[in-house]
Amino acid sequence: MTRPPGEAELRPVIVTVDDDPSVSRAVARDLRRRYGEANRIVRAESGEQALDALRQMKLRGDQVAVLLADYRMPGLTGIEFLERAMDVYPFARRVLLTAYADTNAAIDAINVVDLDHYLLKPWDPPEEKLYPVIDELLKAWQREDRKPVKEAKLVGHRWSAPSADLRDFLARNQVPYRWYASDTEEGERLLDAAGADGRDLPVLITADGEPLITPTNAEVAARVNLATVPSRDFYDLIVVGGGPAGLGAAVYGASEGLRTVLVEKFATGGQAGQSSRIENYLGFPDGVSGGQLTDRARRQAVKFGAELLTTVEATGLEVNGPARTLRLSDGTSIDAKAVVLSMGVSYRQLQAPGCTEMTGAGVYYGAALTEAEGCKDQDVYVVGGANSAGQAAVYLARFARSVTMLVRARSLEQSMSYYLIQQIAGIPNITVRCCTEVAEAYGNGHLERLTLRDLAKGTTEIVDAGQLFIFIGAAPGTAWLENVLARDGHGFVLAGPDFAQEETGWPLDRPPYHLETSVPGVFVAGDVRSDSAKRVASAVGEGAMAVMFVHRYLETLLPGERCGRGRRWKRWRGHDCNRAMRPGRAAHAVPVREAQRRAAPTAVQRGPRGAHRARSGLHRG
Ligand SMILES: Cc1cc2nc3c(=O)[nH]c(=O)nc-3n(C[C@H](O)[C@H](O)[C@H](O)COP(=O)(O)OP(=O)(O)OC[C@H]3O[C@@H](n4cnc5c(N)ncnc54)[C@H](O)[C@@H]3O)c2cc1C
Repeated sequence: MTRPPGEAELRPVIVTVDDDPSVSRAVARDLRRRYGEANRIVRAESGEQALDALRQMKLRGDQVAVLLADYRMPGLTGIEFLERAMDVYPFARRVLLTAYADTNAAIDAINVVDLDHYLLKPWDPPEEKLYPVIDELLKAWQREDRKPVKEAKLVGHRWSAPSADLRDFLARNQVPYRWYASDTEEGERLLDAAGADGRDLPVLITADGEPLITPTNAEVAARVNLATVPSRDFYDLIVVGGGPAGLGAAVYGASEGLRTVLVEKFATGGQAGQSSRIENYLGFPDGVSGGQLTDRARRQAVKFGAELLTTVEATGLEVNGPARTLRLSDGTSIDAKAVVLSMGVSYRQLQAPGCTEMTGAGVYYGAALTEAEGCKDQDVYVVGGANSAGQAAVYLARFARSVTMLVRARSLEQSMSYYLIQQIAGIPNITVRCCTEVAEAYGNGHLERLTLRDLAKGTTEIVDAGQLFIFIGAAPGTAWLENVLARDGHGFVLAGPDFAQEETGWPLDRPPYHLETSVPGVFVAGDVRSDSAKRVASAVGEGAMAVMFVHRYLETLLPGERCGRGRRWKRWRGHDCNRAMRPGRAAHAVPVREAQRRAAPTAVQRGPRGAHRARSGLHRG
């Protein structure tokens, strides 16, 4: 009953069940002789055993073309088996095998299970009595163009936040899956085969056929082969965040010989991974989808040897002598000589009443790519006037009946690129309503209507709305860095010349490098940096540039600290010089400011201060 590996998995299955082992073997042998190349023949010796096999095949996404069952069997009779098999594979063709004596009973039963054929045993020669029948049944089955589903299958409720979140997680991590609403017949069949009652959703059935009921992202990641655990606990460089800046840092760090690990809490690609079309990235004159661009970057980073961890969230940063310790959400930690922070920003929430309750049930933050299919023939609203909202509107217009952009400003000119404004103007089913905001969202279980407020006239209007996509700016998730390093009033990380060295307790004689934060050896790149450009190209550029400064920083460390022969690093002597600092040692961590003071003499200035400035060419005077 085990599935043969490789391409054989794609072959439609013919199942035969007969309680007499010798007959069962003979039937399977005859079938294999003629159909064994194009089809997989599965043999069972009881109805129960065959049903088990069918459920397994259902979970794996196999297609069953023909079922042959003996009429007289102990336990489930052939007819009872075929009747139950219809619940799992309703489109499989059904054949009852009978002896002469049972012909009348078999004919009576035809109506019960909607039999396609009954065959009298024995059938000698099969070329005349068996194959013509099976040929016809296979042809009829194939005409309906049934394809095996080899990817993961996700069964969920259409209007539920957990189901929407898991779809988003799979899509943004480039995990192929097929979606089944739980109230469709096939969705119910899959839930049944998975032994789930449909109350706990979503259910993910992996490509290997393993059902996971309401799994966490970390559980899903582990099952779909996304790395979640670091392979070592000491690295040259830790990159926090897997958006364009983090991927840029990982590619350059790993390609330049640094042992690099990237930790990403949700999905590599970051905001850019949600962009339907990036048109202003160098080298792509026809544009490129954010998913494609970041998937290439991800593969490039892996090719150079960077470790990419998903569903791993950074929650704390400590200085331990020359090591920088990153605390993780699962309670573990990793150490490195240097860190690049590239956590980007995440969406601001719309405060209008009703929006929170309906998030995932018609109200979405930046999920335009995942939810677009569900917008077919719907009236869709997009809130926001920046490029991200514009791109979403253009993409959704391919699916929805109408897309209305709701923009609080008087025009799009101040906030959106010219090329995008032109594109939007040329798409007939997009309307732009300026000076308009969402006042309230309503619906019974999912979004049905919106109240819109005209800010110029002060009037309100209620409109039917299938989906609402919100793109109203974003904020940095840097609360975990409070009292660790200097941030601006909005939480963005200050770097290089942007913070006052005296006020932040900068501990070294040299000034900070350009992208260096107020903690030496910790750098920042991309949208999370104060005053950054908020563009893919600049994020990538900053990620690459941060690595250049990481090298420069590493040069300033004492030789022992660079390769493990320093005072503190002696503890690791006897191993690879960059061998791990055990997680337990982080307990020796000291408050950051104090650590900086103590660390000051170890991160020495090599050469005169001016020489550094001249070398980087980036410091202000
Ligand atoms: C829909 C959309 C369309 C866009 N279109 C364009 C465009 O056409 N052109 C353009 O130039 N720009 C565009 N942008 C902006 C561009 O995507 C961003 O400027 C860019 O992605 C910033 O990259 P980043 O790496 O700094 O941050 P992000 O892309 O935000 O990536 C940060 C990553 O860090 C992760 N993270 C956050 N906190 C933690 C933590 N504590 N631990 C671990 N991981 C963490 C996040 O999950 C995220 O994956 C668009 C943005 C959006 C949302």
